[in-house]
Amino acid sequence: HPRTSDELIRAEEPVLAHNYHPLPVVVARAEGAWVEDVEGRRYLDMLAGYSALNFGHRHPALVEAAHRQLDRLTLTSRAFHNDRLAGFAERLAGLTGQDMVLPMNTGAEAVESGIKLARKWAYDVKGVPADRATIVVAADNFHGRTTTIVSFSTDETARSGFGPFTPGFRIVPYNDLAALEAAVDETTAAVLIEPIQGEAGVNIPDDGYLAGVRELTRRAGCLFVADEIQSGLGRTGHTLAVQHEDVVPDVVLLGKALGGGIVPVSAVVGRREVLGVLHPGEHGSTFGGNPLAAAVGTAVVELLETGVFQRRAAELGEVLRDGLAALVGRGVVGFRSRGLWAGVDVDPALGTGRAVSERLMREGILAKDTHGSTIRLAPPLTITADELTSALASLEKVLAVD
Ligand code: PLP
Repeated sequence: HPRTSDELIRAEEPVLAHNYHPLPVVVARAEGAWVEDVEGRRYLDMLAGYSALNFGHRHPALVEAAHRQLDRLTLTSRAFHNDRLAGFAERLAGLTGQDMVLPMNTGAEAVESGIKLARKWAYDVKGVPADRATIVVAADNFHGRTTTIVSFSTDETARSGFGPFTPGFRIVPYNDLAALEAAVDETTAAVLIEPIQGEAGVNIPDDGYLAGVRELTRRAGCLFVADEIQSGLGRTGHTLAVQHEDVVPDVVLLGKALGGGIVPVSAVVGRREVLGVLHPGEHGSTFGGNPLAAAVGTAVVELLETGVFQRRAAELGEVLRDGLAALVGRGVVGFRSRGLWAGVDVDPALGTGRAVSERLMREGILAKDTHGSTIRLAPPLTITADELTSALASLEKVLAVD
């Protein structure tokens, strides 16, 4: 007999590494903003795969692009050319206003690639002495889980037990231009930051910070590398979150939604002067730039070229902001939002973020806590105003003090 949700959850325990603590829901199918569990219960997806599902589950244009490509060619490796990669790179560079693309698979790989690129640029172009390059990052960052990336995390759970760590990083407080200025010197290859810190609880810097980082890095002669893996591709109401301040970084890291929720696709996009420092053999990936990924990625870029999703995020972002503002003092102690993305601090007296997420789940809403009593809301950009309003009503209900 097909196993129940409870049976499937129990079956995972002895055979799956325990590096996650999922909500107790077992999803079996999904469409748009909705998922359905094994028993046929429906839930509104207010997390959207940490923004990997910006276009919703199984967007028809993306599924069609994948199907068409599955019937023709799926993998070549970069030992050969494939007929989908040039178009993908042209379209993605055009969308982001950059020159060149380095295709990878996961977000962490894009970050690693950005770090390698920045260092190579520092040695080859800037003239930093060998092995002396530094990269300045922000406290409370989240850039992924590899050994080098956790080396400059400030989250003890992410780091503890995984040393020795990669040297060459300086950590400064986020949203603090003076601290950044003090940390940058002639060894600095790059400043690497998230334009909005997602995992930290949708931490939005003051207006002027991103423009300040742009100005400071230009003056100091180092690169501005923006990790837009979670903030980018429509989420905030712009194609990129840096556009909120009309800023163009030297390098932008993309992932998550670039694969349309179908395949892992990430990319480093940037100026020719920077990406041009890589030569054959110095960097690569068996799967990076594969034709299936390129086909889906191209379809994602086509969706974003219409501007429809960015507009939706901006417009529905106002519904989200107004709805959350109405809950302040009624179970919500504070929130930060931009576009269809919010970090909601619930009153700790009402339970942990986890407990509130479980209560939301029982109301048919899937959301996830970040840290402590903060819940992140990041629905698919295809969600309707009515669906969003009903999610806010459910939040109000689970926070109501009785
Ligand atoms: N960078 C940011 C800003 C992220 O939010 C994430 C994932 O949450 C990553 C990098 C890592 O991406 P991945 O999990 O695909 O390695």
